[in-house]
Parts: sequence; C-alpha cells; structure tokens
Amino acid sequence: MNYDSETCIGVLGGGQLGRMLALEARRMGFRVIKWTGGDVSGAARLADHILTQPFDCPDTLQRFIDQVDVATVEFENIPRELLEKVAAHVPLIPGTEAVSVCQNRELEKSFLADHGIPTAEFRIVDCAEGLAAALRDIAGDVILKTVESGYDGKGQMLVRSEPARASADQLWQDFGGGRAIVEQRIDLAAELSVMVARGQDGSTVTYDPAENEHRDHILDVSIVPARLPQALLDEARTIATRVTQALGYTGVIGVEFFLDQQGQLLVNEMAPRPHNSGHHTLDACECSQFEQQLRVICDLPLGSTRLIKPAVMWNLLGDLWPSETTAPDWTPVLKTPGAKLHLYGKSHAKPRRKMGHVTFMGDTIDEALERANACKRALGC
Ligand code: ATP
Ligand code: MG
Repeated sequence: MNYDSETCIGVLGGGQLGRMLALEARRMGFRVIKWTGGDVSGAARLADHILTQPFDCPDTLQRFIDQVDVATVEFENIPRELLEKVAAHVPLIPGTEAVSVCQNRELEKSFLADHGIPTAEFRIVDCAEGLAAALRDIAGDVILKTVESGYDGKGQMLVRSEPARASADQLWQDFGGGRAIVEQRIDLAAELSVMVARGQDGSTVTYDPAENEHRDHILDVSIVPARLPQALLDEARTIATRVTQALGYTGVIGVEFFLDQQGQLLVNEMAPRPHNSGHHTLDACECSQFEQQLRVICDLPLGSTRLIKPAVMWNLLGDLWPSETTAPDWTPVLKTPGAKLHLYGKSHAKPRRKMGHVTFMGDTIDEALERANACKRALGC
C-alpha cells in the first residue's frame, strides 16, 4: 500500500467516465494512458497519451501493456478477448470475469438468480417460438432487451399486453432477432442505485443510495439522499454489498435497483465501473467514486463515502444544445449557489448524448431540488 505517483494507469474506453477518472488521477499525481478503440468524441482528452486504434490491434496492445502498471475499464462493452490479453500482462481491475458477467444481461441475470438475489422475472430467448413461450409465461407488459451491448435504453423494446399484441413472429422480426432477454415490466415506485467500492483486501464501503429518475430510459436526475425509508436504503446497501462480494469484485461498481409497488427491491443491473448516478460524489462526498476507483486500483486505503451536502445531479443531454456545436447559455446554472457545471468536452451534441452534468447542492435535499428545478425551467426543460 505505497503511494507511488509514478504509477501509470491504463484505461480501456474513451468516454466521460474515463475523463472524470483521469481528472482525479491527475490531481492525485498519477499518469494515465487511454485506449479508446476508435474515434474519440473529445471526452478522452486529459490523458497523458491516447491510443485510438481498434481493440484488436496487436501492436497497440503491446504498447499499452508496455507502458501501464495497472489497467481498468471505463465502460463494460470491451471485448472479452482484449480483457484477457491485458490481464495476462498487467493487473486488470475489475477483473475479466466480473466485467464479462456485467456486460451480458443473460449472464448477469442468471448470476443474480443463482445467488438468490431478487430480480424482475425473465426468460432468455433466441427465436420467435421462444418469445411466444415467454409471453405466455410472464404476465403483463414485458421489455425485450438485447443480451449484449445495451446502454441508455438502446436495444430495448416495450411489448404491451393490451391492446392485443402483434404475433410473436412479428415482434421478433421488429426486434431484429439475435439473443434477447424478455423481462417483466415492473410498475415502478422508484429506482435507486448504490455505489460500492471493494478493495484488493476485500474490504467494502458503500455510498448513500441515489434515487434515480429516468426520462425515455436515460437517467435524468439522481437525488441523494434518496427520499425513501431508511430501512429500505439500508437493505439496498446490504444487497449491493452481497452482489459485490458474490462477484468476487474488486473496484467500484454501481448496482441499480427497481422498487416495485409492493415495496420490494429488485436488482436491475450492475455497472462494473463508476456510474452516472455517482457523479454527485465528485462535489458532494468526501471521496469521489473516481478517486475511490483509483485508490482500489493502486491498492490504497478506501476513502470516506460520507455525503457532505445533499445533492441533485442533472444530466445534460445533447437535446439541450441549440445546434450540434452551440452550447446552451449556462448563466442560470452559473448564477445558482451550490451548482457545479461539468462538461465532457464532446465536440458535437446529438440527441440523447450525454454532454455533461450539473450537481446542485443545498443545505437540505429540498433546497437542492428547488435549485435544480429552477435551472431546468430556465433552460427550457
Ligand atoms: P443504462 O446502462 O443507462 O443503465 P441500459 O440500456 O442498461 O441503461 P436498463 O438499465 O436495463 O438499460 O434500462 C434503462 C431504464 O429503463 C431503467 O432504468 C428503467 O427506467 C427502464 N426499465 C428497464 N427495464 C425495466 C423493467 N423491467 N421494468 C420497468 N422499467 C424498466
Ligand atoms: Mg440501467
């Protein structure tokens, strides 16, 4: 557990999570090399060195492993073969197995079911007949999701039970085939998530659960502390810790939950990395989720997860931009006390693209919410 500021951290992926990780790494004195696997949006900047070659380039693999002391992923959809190759040469945190489980909804849901952790009812299907059987088994509306490569609601299709559904053949064709999970649609009372960090020695810490509000399947705001009974929040922390331990996980992980109308917590999915609902930790917690990840990677003691101030995180999507290259006027945010603007350096705005976020802090959660809502209104949301 020696602090070595010469440590070079290798990051697989080129998005905003790696950017915020790199910002914290710089503050802590570490060097960062990113391998983005392709074109970069601008979010990859702030690394000492950026590799943009495809993930199957052997020369780049060699350069990456020659230069980095330890490697991590900033998003989970990194090919398994690459994770294995990297891990054969340098420590990879989190490890290949844990990332593989989280990048595939079939493995993920099966893992949860095997460990007795409650989830929405589901079936795995790979043909129209399978879909027809699943639709007979699961009552009410369902959501079809691709087993791989989904994020921000991509690769999902809602299938309502009323009015009468199209035939399974037609639905399967509309969905595009492949391999899918058919998931019972939960009548949500709330959504929440818990960030957990597990050190190399197996010790764990959790952050205060975030209450998450989505719009069109994309996270809109996270509210911390969540406005839910304490016993429920404690239960969410306990389940999230159980999931982390069962995975034998090392690093920071986000565990997403549905709360149904009966008050039951169901695990939706896990994100094997810092998570969008943990962005407030940069401004509102003693140790951010990104610093925490660096601490685990470098085998340093875990930091305090204490919330210093109630916070509301608002995601800034590209829809807010007047044009692809024109940003909104941030004056309302800049004039709001307790508001911190974070922009990810992406050169082009597109609808649904995450361009940045704002953390609104207040002395109470109501004050933070009032500030967030006033700014949202001022920016036309
Ligand atoms: P992300 O990676 O951004 O979390 P994702 O593509 O992995 O998104 P999910 O987390 O599965 O997608 O779904 C996104 C959102 O869609 C959920 O947070 C929830 O609001 C809604 N949703 C997904 N599945 C269900 C379900 N079974 N019942 C009710 N709502 C759901
Ligand atoms: Mg999700």
